[in-house]
Amino acid sequence: MEDLKPIIEGIDNSRPFCIAGPCSAETREQVLTTARELAADGIKVFRAGIWKPRTKPGGFEGVGEPGLEWLREVKEETGMLTATEVANKQHAEAALKAGVDILWIGARTSANPFAMQEVADTIKEHGGDVAVLVKNPVNPDLELWVGALQRIYNAGVRRLGAIHRGFSAYGKHMYRNLPSWNIPIELRLRYPNLPIICDPSHIGGKRELVAPIAQEALDMGFDGLIIESHCDPDCAWSDAAQQLTPEVLNLILNTLVVRDQKQSTENLALLRQQIDQIDNDLLELIAKRMRVSREIGQYKKEHDMPVLQAGRYNDVMRTRIKLGEEMGVGKDCLKTLWLAIHDESVRQQVEVLNGRKPW
Ligand code: PEP
Ligand code: MN
Repeated sequence: MEDLKPIIEGIDNSRPFCIAGPCSAETREQVLTTARELAADGIKVFRAGIWKPRTKPGGFEGVGEPGLEWLREVKEETGMLTATEVANKQHAEAALKAGVDILWIGARTSANPFAMQEVADTIKEHGGDVAVLVKNPVNPDLELWVGALQRIYNAGVRRLGAIHRGFSAYGKHMYRNLPSWNIPIELRLRYPNLPIICDPSHIGGKRELVAPIAQEALDMGFDGLIIESHCDPDCAWSDAAQQLTPEVLNLILNTLVVRDQKQSTENLALLRQQIDQIDNDLLELIAKRMRVSREIGQYKKEHDMPVLQAGRYNDVMRTRIKLGEEMGVGKDCLKTLWLAIHDESVRQQVEVLNGRKPW
């Protein structure tokens, strides 16, 4: 995905780029009232769901095609670009015909390769000249997310981006959808020029979490936000608990801090030098530890002892994790590190037992 183009041109960088609008288009009045307020606050892209994928039947499933006319009015009156969710051929065709500027693919759709291919084929039939944002699938599967992005890319779309909206998990959590930041970060490392936008509304599920999650995303270098905003959030027909009034959204956007990715200060360079040195020291120490392991392997071989000694292994894990935690390192990290070190140690000792000389 080397030849991607910006999703939209000419964004002013003084505030984070933010797509905003209601979860669902409900009535013409609600859409236009919200849009007018957002446009007055400088929002440049308006979102509204026209077709709503509900988990259970009986919920509000969106107003359907009449809502596209309201989006056209928003664009004509406010000059904002418009964005809506498409999940199948009929949605994509109708949205493209109505001149919607950005199509987004919802989390339930990006988890479904058949639906993704259907949407991609429809976009291709229309020439591929539309901006598309692909939300992560509901389940924490990076490959499924990448596959969904690739299907849209292969349809000729170059104004392509990803939306991180968190991952569903069983049971009660602080978040509606767990952020699992390592997954979008891995996506960033794999495709450095693919814009990634964060959706703190669907991650948090409640309005008080929107600002802190948005700041966390900006701190990690996300390229923008998509935030649900409604002129009367408490009365919203979907996702009422997480929507913000345009006024509150404006306050939040004015207080969020955008980090400058390109700025690399001298101090940062010095700190990075320190990290490089520490990593070298760590490597030396790990190699040294493995040399001692091989000597132990040699000893065990000479005394007919088995390589794996559960008592010793449990002791090592317990004491290192305790000490490491006292030093402020997280337990999961310590567990992973010492499991890996121990595995490698066993591998080296087995090599010695099988006849290779310790160095
Ligand atoms: C939405 O953006 O309103 C939506 C339905 O999101 P998701 O696909 O992330 O659940
Ligand atoms: Mn929603």
